[in-house]
Amino acid sequence: MPRDVHPGGAALWAAHSAPLALPLLQEETRADVCVIGLGGSGLTAIHALLDSGLDVVGLDAGAVASGAAGRNGGLLLAGLAPFFHDAVAALGAPRATALYRATMDEQERVAAASAAHVRRTGSLRIAADDAEAADCDAQFDAMGAASLPVERYVGPWGRGLLFPTDLSFDPLGRALGLAKDARARGARLFERSPAIEVGADAVRTDRGVVRADRVVVATDGGLVRLLPELAPRVRTARLQMLGTAPARDVELAVPMYLRHGYEYAQQLPGGEIALGGFRDHHEDAEWTDVTEPTDAIQRLLDSFLRERIGTAAAVTHRWAASVGYADGPLPVVEELERGVFALGGYSGTGNLVGALAGRAAAEWAAGAPGPFTELFAA
Ligand SMILES: Cc1cc2nc3c(=O)[nH]c(=O)nc-3n(C[C@H](O)[C@H](O)[C@H](O)COP(=O)(O)OP(=O)(O)OC[C@H]3O[C@@H](n4cnc5c(N)ncnc54)[C@H](O)[C@@H]3O)c2cc1C
Repeated sequence: MPRDVHPGGAALWAAHSAPLALPLLQEETRADVCVIGLGGSGLTAIHALLDSGLDVVGLDAGAVASGAAGRNGGLLLAGLAPFFHDAVAALGAPRATALYRATMDEQERVAAASAAHVRRTGSLRIAADDAEAADCDAQFDAMGAASLPVERYVGPWGRGLLFPTDLSFDPLGRALGLAKDARARGARLFERSPAIEVGADAVRTDRGVVRADRVVVATDGGLVRLLPELAPRVRTARLQMLGTAPARDVELAVPMYLRHGYEYAQQLPGGEIALGGFRDHHEDAEWTDVTEPTDAIQRLLDSFLRERIGTAAAVTHRWAASVGYADGPLPVVEELERGVFALGGYSGTGNLVGALAGRAAAEWAAGAPGPFTELFAA
């Protein structure tokens, strides 16, 4: 690795938050629901379960948000992983529109619950070439037909689309806040407590047991390791990023994603740039659950930072995390066997869809299918 690597591959966000240092599970305990995975999806599920008056234990193999939830690009983009017109082609306009609107509603819930960590920035999709510009036109038309907020963009970064109502956030700060609030509301959360066996009435960790007749598995990038039966439908991939010192030589007022979303960048209020991408340039190597950043991808990010973003700011952080890619436009959000509900496979854009999936899981656990269940129903 280049010499300016931050030790441990910490995400840029870690500079702004202190870890919670929660206890390990070292005993047998009981709960109405056990939630495995304390990222944005699992934590949203926990709050929704608490809203229903259920007693919840949450487990994480590492620390709260030590997976993708605390190590991502921080874009809160409405919609599914496929662009809206592609979602329409796959799911039909009514369903694609309902899902898009549900993510817009979730943006507002995130903004209300985590105001200190959220910015109303909008977002830009920047086309890499004429073919992608034509694809932006198709997206513009489809969104216009569905009365969804979108504008054409032509400006310093090129041409494409502006999504005026999108948000950006500090994903780690937000997740830590959710965990603190959940504990204050009575949820019992344990770190460094990996689930090693999931059954319909108990979850075993390496040192403890949670007896619960409803289990929510919200481990996304770790989903197939825990539930190998999902392996044909969800694949684990590594996504990599870098972060810089405050960049005074460039202004990136609106977070953006480029080249069909493969690259993505935002500038923090302090001037630091968070940049990710290039998974497809080494796709075979990036289908992995290893989370160490690699020279090959980091060099591509370096070049992009200098040549396309145009800053000379020093790179201070390099990191990676695992995500689950689903084999279709929708994530896995379903009861796998009696008592076990699995969520994940957000295909790299789970900050909002994962939260919606967490809400669907909570409806399932409360025995009351509702609007969130309906969003993901087959
Ligand atoms: C570099 C990068 C950039 C991204 N950028 C964006 C973006 O800008 N916008 C966006 O919407 N999405 C983005 N994503 C995707 C997004 O981060 C994920 O979709 C989202 O975080 C999924 O949330 P989650 O809570 O389901 O999973 P995670 O946040 O990964 O949380 C899962 C948790 O489960 C834990 N776990 C795993 N196995 C076990 C086990 N056996 N027992 C107990 N705990 C376990 C992990 O430690 C982890 O904390 C990005 C992802 C990466 C990696």
